[in-house]
Amino acid sequence: MLIDSPATTVATPLDDARKQLRHALDFLDYGDDVFQMLVTPRRELAVAVPLRTDDGRILTLRGYRVQHSLTRGPAKGGLRFSPGVDLDEVRALAMWMTWKCALVDLPYGGAKGGLAIDPSQHSRAELERATRRYTNEILPIIGPDRDIPAPDIGTDEQTMAWIMDTYSANLGYTVPDVVTGKPISLGGSLGRATATSRGVALVALAALAHVGIRAEGATASVQGYGKVGRSAARFLSEAGVRIVCVADEHGAVYRSAGLDLDALDHHVDTHRTVLGFDGGESLAAGDALTLDVDLLVPAAVEGVIHEGNAPSVTARVVVEGANGPTTTAADEILAAQGTLVVPDILANAGGVIVSYFEWAQAKQTYRWSLDTVEERLRTRMVAAWDEVLAHAIRHRTTLRRAAMTIAVARVYDAHRNRGLYP
Ligand code: GLU
Repeated sequence: MLIDSPATTVATPLDDARKQLRHALDFLDYGDDVFQMLVTPRRELAVAVPLRTDDGRILTLRGYRVQHSLTRGPAKGGLRFSPGVDLDEVRALAMWMTWKCALVDLPYGGAKGGLAIDPSQHSRAELERATRRYTNEILPIIGPDRDIPAPDIGTDEQTMAWIMDTYSANLGYTVPDVVTGKPISLGGSLGRATATSRGVALVALAALAHVGIRAEGATASVQGYGKVGRSAARFLSEAGVRIVCVADEHGAVYRSAGLDLDALDHHVDTHRTVLGFDGGESLAAGDALTLDVDLLVPAAVEGVIHEGNAPSVTARVVVEGANGPTTTAADEILAAQGTLVVPDILANAGGVIVSYFEWAQAKQTYRWSLDTVEERLRTRMVAAWDEVLAHAIRHRTTLRRAAMTIAVARVYDAHRNRGLYP
């Protein structure tokens, strides 16, 4: 039998994450010993999560939590529920969290969790049982000063509430700072739900201004219309950007005069997809990436911009709302084309920044106003953008290499100051 196996030739997110680290260390002139130390996750836990289904069967799910780094503080990062999630994907995502937290100067290391489950195929009761059992399995390694989960693809504030409750029940008292992205009623932060999108819109507007494109009248395509893409489209449109296309995994809708986002959101709330929206023309999902627009925001999953379609990406600016949407090979093609790519660890850092604010509020037992949260978010995002841009200009390099260099240097510096035990 002939087996067509692209997996042997196609780079995985982990390959890309490793290459990005290698580039940063080459620039910093650090050797292979530093690479080995920084590429190796400090701690990895793989667990079985047996789930009793509503009809009495038992499904055995695979779950993971990877703590890539604990050097600058407790591990921090989301939890992903997705059928294809595996240990290598979680390793890549955990490594990116380390650089992201360092880049925006949060006192955290990096982590990520995953559970191989398709949330759309399970009842709420099944998701609750799976979440609680997963939490119980990883309980020994999480905690407000050890590792603090948050939402990611397939999880939400309800998931965080179940994790908090399970953790608290085991300890015998309420521990709100064990997770972030909680419901407001349980100590969630005002502004957390839209924080990633706010940050994406903020740096997108800064990037457009940098290349001399006025927001008013600029066009944008948003690929991924979930937690990140949907509000990012909204904030961009409020700033005057014309959202001409949005896509989800099922398809895309396009309208050259700009989509009516109120009508679109109503459609998505009813049908759970952009597909079938009659306020625009239907396109294939992938077409959203190659439209003739000023700004492209990939806001779904890893690897959507690859060697195959990168030459067709004509947007002047790409802002990575997703983690790892551009492969290393595509990154090189985009750089050669003169496309300005704002990397994930900068572009989507707004989420973990407000996670940090939520954690800080829990530690203070004091709620900040929405204005305070949004002002402090803006300050951190703008500072990181300015720093990355200045580094990129000074060293004539891409924003990704600049961001990675700043972040990796910061983490290695912390290693050096702590020293090696024993
Ligand atoms: N999952 C988000 C990310 O990839 C948020 C992580 C967090 O808030 O800890 O950045």
